Amino acid sequence: MALIVQKYGGTSVGSAERIQAVAQRVKRTVDAGNSVVVVVSAMGKTTDGLVKLAHEISANPNRREMDMLLSTGEQVTIALMSMALQELGQPAISMTGAQVGIVTEAAHTRARILHIKTDRLERHLQAGKVVVVAGFQGISSIEDLEITTLGRGGSDTSAVALAAALRADCCEIYTDVPGILTTDPRLVPEAQLMAEITSDEMLELASLGAKVLHPRAVEIARNYGMPLVVRSSWTDDPGTRVVSPVPQPRPLEDLEIARPVDAVEFDVDQAKVAMLRVPDRPGVAARLFGEISGQDLDVDLIIQSIHEGNTNDIAFTVSQASLKRAEAVSSAMIPALAAGTGSAAEDAEVMVDGGIAKVTIAGAGMIGRPGVAAQMFKTLAEAGINIQMISTSEVKVSCVVEAADCDRALAVLCEAFEVNSSPARIDTAQAAAQSDAPPVRGVALDRNQARLAIRQIPDRPGMAARLFELLAQHNISVDMIIQSQRCRLMNGLTARDIAFTVSQLDAEHAREILAAAAVELGWGEVVVDTAIAKVSIVGSGMVGQPGVAAQMFAALAQEKINIQMIATSEIKVSCVVSEEDGVKALQVIHAAFGLAGQQRIEVPA
Ligand code: ASP
Ligand code: MG
Repeated sequence: MALIVQKYGGTSVGSAERIQAVAQRVKRTVDAGNSVVVVVSAMGKTTDGLVKLAHEISANPNRREMDMLLSTGEQVTIALMSMALQELGQPAISMTGAQVGIVTEAAHTRARILHIKTDRLERHLQAGKVVVVAGFQGISSIEDLEITTLGRGGSDTSAVALAAALRADCCEIYTDVPGILTTDPRLVPEAQLMAEITSDEMLELASLGAKVLHPRAVEIARNYGMPLVVRSSWTDDPGTRVVSPVPQPRPLEDLEIARPVDAVEFDVDQAKVAMLRVPDRPGVAARLFGEISGQDLDVDLIIQSIHEGNTNDIAFTVSQASLKRAEAVSSAMIPALAAGTGSAAEDAEVMVDGGIAKVTIAGAGMIGRPGVAAQMFKTLAEAGINIQMISTSEVKVSCVVEAADCDRALAVLCEAFEVNSSPARIDTAQAAAQSDAPPVRGVALDRNQARLAIRQIPDRPGMAARLFELLAQHNISVDMIIQSQRCRLMNGLTARDIAFTVSQLDAEHAREILAAAAVELGWGEVVVDTAIAKVSIVGSGMVGQPGVAAQMFAALAQEKINIQMIATSEIKVSCVVSEEDGVKALQVIHAAFGLAGQQRIEVPA
């Protein structure tokens, strides 16, 4: 007999008929010999309606009262669901978050779960009842009994946290889509259902999958090794399995870690190749990385900064053993790139550095939290460590530093982010050998970003920290950050450009803040472009496999789509292209990796 936690979203319980249909499904699961805990959302768009009501009364409603209000939505559903089960002859009982003992931080409207006192719930299960639990809510402590909510979309998090606390066999998330798709089917009709995805991939695809599965829920599943399934409430199709590697055993206290970073990682087997001032036109990255993968060389980080005039800098890292060959390939390409471009590539050059290391902070808690990257840069700056390159993804920030600084960088980062586990050495070969995942699992497009760049930032410790701290102070979340190789002599000093993306809504504010700072700190021009799109590929199978990024760049080159920025993490490659190229870029990349299929999948708008 298995213990299963089933979570039903708002649409799945949107009417009395739907609640009855869900009750049937729950009963079938019980009849098959399982114990079932059901977690539900508020019916349909109830929570949106409550938020709207609150704003009719107050422009800035009190957070405690907001939680009082919003938590009522789920309370309606649990009672109705329990009644529906009882009507089917299935013993059932509804419980609020407080009754279950879901204890959270005291942070109203965005509380994280600390622990769950499961004994009361377990007594009901043992008595043969289905327990129907209100998602999205908890209490601040057993004494205070203050009602808290977990943040919008939080009932996924309730369900997975309960599954972990009960040591359930599986957590099933029922929704109005058939599972996780390879991309957005409204933009790419050939999008297919994935049978399986890893939790790490899911986190990197947050912009694609967040509506289907709350990233905090994925994080708990990963940390506790809880098998997850995302499937449709309307069919018996198997949906998508979200799998996690077997984790280190961890206590059920502090279930949702409040810390933004849960691991510090490093790779000392890295060498850097930078191609400076190569022509800014479609096909250059495709050609370069095509040649590199033709030599069977595996590239790790790739960073391309914005163009200055009509040239780009492209920098990448390879293992030290590959450096000589990567350098040879890059140098050999310079004349070919310069051909036919007039003066643009005349002074292109290749620079290499064998003595570098990559240090990375990782954690799902950094999603949507401004200031985490800034804190990393500040920590390194305070230790006097210069950052040579920066590349970010949804759940990671990686910095390339001098190899001699690596140990110190790791020590200060572990301290700053309170990471107790020792830094994990990234072993590409081992990861590649262990994974049978496809190189690309899914492709995502983000059209809500704007790109900002600051030119000529003096190349010394503390500059990136200043920049991103300023943004964090104004509560501006930064998405992709790139600091590439550019070294230019400026009054005898070297300087770099730093480019990054923020939500379009924040772009003008960010520009104002930085323009003021630039004057004060002697930085160059601040450039903004809101007409951009970010397209990303994600797959654990790309680790240690040459040619994946090259294939992405080639797909874009074939359509003559120019790449403005590139940033990578181990399992993700992101390119910024112009806004008008965005959808086309998504489509050709999706097709290039063989993700397109015949089956047409309908999703609600
Ligand atoms: N009802 C809450 C919301 O709409 C929680 C959830 O459905 O996950 O955000
Ligand atoms: Mg949801």
